[in-house]
Amino acid sequence: MGLFDKFKEITRKVSEVENSIYNEKLDYLEIYERNLELEKEIAERTEELNDANKRMFTLQHIWDMMNSSTPLENVMEAIVNSTQGELGYMHCTIIRKYEDENGEFLRVFAQSNDGLIDRLNTIIGAPGIQTRRLNYSTESVFYDTMKQRTIKQTKAIDLLLASVLPELTRDTIHKVVTNQPVKSVIVIPLIAQKKEFGWFCVFSAREELANTEMDFLGLFAKQIEMAITIADLFQAVREQAVTDGLTGLYNRRYFEEALEKEVQRARRQKQPFSIIGIDLDFLKKINDTYGHNYGDLAIKTIANVLKANARSVDVPARIGGEEFNVLLPGISSQGAMIAAERIRKTIENTEIDTIGHITGSLGVATYFEHSENIDELLELTDQAMYTSKRNGRNKVTLAKPISETYWQEVAVNTFLDILSKNRIPKLKDLSEELCTKLKTTNQDEVSKEALYSVADTLTKIYNPMHTAGITKDKVRCAVTLAKRFDLSKEEIDNLRVAILLYDIGNLMLPEELLQKATPLTPEEREHIKNHPIIAAREILKPISYIQDVLPIIEHHHENWDGTGYPNKIEKEEIPLTSQIILIIDEYFALIEPRPYRSKMSTKDAIEIIKSDAGKKWNKNLVDEFISLMEHDIV
Ligand code: GH3
Ligand code: MG
Repeated sequence: MGLFDKFKEITRKVSEVENSIYNEKLDYLEIYERNLELEKEIAERTEELNDANKRMFTLQHIWDMMNSSTPLENVMEAIVNSTQGELGYMHCTIIRKYEDENGEFLRVFAQSNDGLIDRLNTIIGAPGIQTRRLNYSTESVFYDTMKQRTIKQTKAIDLLLASVLPELTRDTIHKVVTNQPVKSVIVIPLIAQKKEFGWFCVFSAREELANTEMDFLGLFAKQIEMAITIADLFQAVREQAVTDGLTGLYNRRYFEEALEKEVQRARRQKQPFSIIGIDLDFLKKINDTYGHNYGDLAIKTIANVLKANARSVDVPARIGGEEFNVLLPGISSQGAMIAAERIRKTIENTEIDTIGHITGSLGVATYFEHSENIDELLELTDQAMYTSKRNGRNKVTLAKPISETYWQEVAVNTFLDILSKNRIPKLKDLSEELCTKLKTTNQDEVSKEALYSVADTLTKIYNPMHTAGITKDKVRCAVTLAKRFDLSKEEIDNLRVAILLYDIGNLMLPEELLQKATPLTPEEREHIKNHPIIAAREILKPISYIQDVLPIIEHHHENWDGTGYPNKIEKEEIPLTSQIILIIDEYFALIEPRPYRSKMSTKDAIEIIKSDAGKKWNKNLVDEFISLMEHDIV
């Protein structure tokens, strides 16, 4: 090689080196810039994490969460959702480690609501991941991180899945991991009070996380460990507590446990027990006039009276804010009435600082005598207590066994429940007036007239053309018809209550729809068709004692031939009582005017009903109905 060639060779190499240096420099610059961006992002993210952390662990927030009945679950759920939502991860799960006679296993303890689990469940099929017993393999990232007490990030999502769900085929796992945004999972062991609790798992869309972010997640996990410790302690303390903080009386949980034991004992020894229910009168007024502290003082006064009057086996308990129950083992209604009267008198005679004298309203019910069902017995105690209120307060009332007039009490209490709990927003302004009407009565028994009048008033709201007094006719007509079909007293009582309530769902529908003068469009018709469901499921479902009435209401627009709504059931699937409502409702609607038509003669109305025999109604029912009408029996 000549000199020239050598020189050329050297310059080529130099330029190659230069080039590569230049390229590397470019690379370097790029990396440098990318790093800067990454650092910026990390800084931002850290700030976000800090913020979220602060948000999550404000005292109020902790307090609210701890006060739930399941603080640990509540706290964990809040954590996973904030981590996923506010910190921008794809998904977040807390997995807990358990042990039983078959060894150690895992379960999802909390997971963020982000749809990722839904996708997984669709692919793996039932049961969903949340309810599965998950495998704890010594070959898994869970095992490694727990044993080494370290955080790990893994991109092998397929391996992670296969370790917890060994029952899945390769194919299924492949389906789960392809075409989804999660690129890596950060697994952080959680150890609280030296016990291996489980793992905090963060699913990220990025393959690599910066060390600072990993560190931060580690710190975050420490917070979770702290929360677990606190929530655990809280739960344990709450579970052990049997008394109420303000009064020192037993709490509701203890009362319910004692009640259950007492039922066992009563059955075994064939001995009764009684419950006295007490509600402080006019507490709202005391609060408003003297302030909450004096309200509390009134509550404590009642508590002290109950304690002073209780035998050692009695269980005086604070059930709610100003509601108390005393369980009296072995005591019949006669004895319980004496005890209740003594309590009433002592409350009345106790002088309280500033407030003066307070009174309470009491109800008494006895196991065996009034009911052998705990819920019903508590319900009856409550109703007796309300009767004391209605009759002027500062009284004791003995529960009535389920009686002739029981349906009226059920109906009154249902209306009172709907009105006082504001279950129908439209009734807000009316509720006080209607409640007063329902509560005011001279006799011991609830007045039927008040019931019909309230039902008429409510109907008039969604149907201004409703004639007052028609509700009463409807009930009478329905009952006469029902009696021709040998329905039991209980079914007939349920029917009476259903007649008062079946269209109450209309009160949730928009005004314009109900008062439209022109025929409804198909969409509007569909909307209106929701009313039986709204009545049964939204308004009435929470009211425990009318559960048997709900199916009657829900099905009062089903047709005999299956063309009705909402469930399109047919023939004998439809309760006979629902069919009775349908026929009564239609008949009385036809003889009333409507915005879009004038009223019909009874003769024409009957003709219309006849023409739908076998379609809307069972033919038999139509025959009986017409015979009632034609013989003017109702
Ligand atoms: P009455 O029972 O005689 O019909 O009238 P009331 O004024 O007691 O009426 P209501 O039962 O409707 O109201 C109960 C009130 O009791 C509402 C609530 O603010 C108050 N209250 C509930 N728990 C507490 C409590 O722990 N302390 C205080 N100070 N007030 C309470
Ligand atoms: Mg009260």
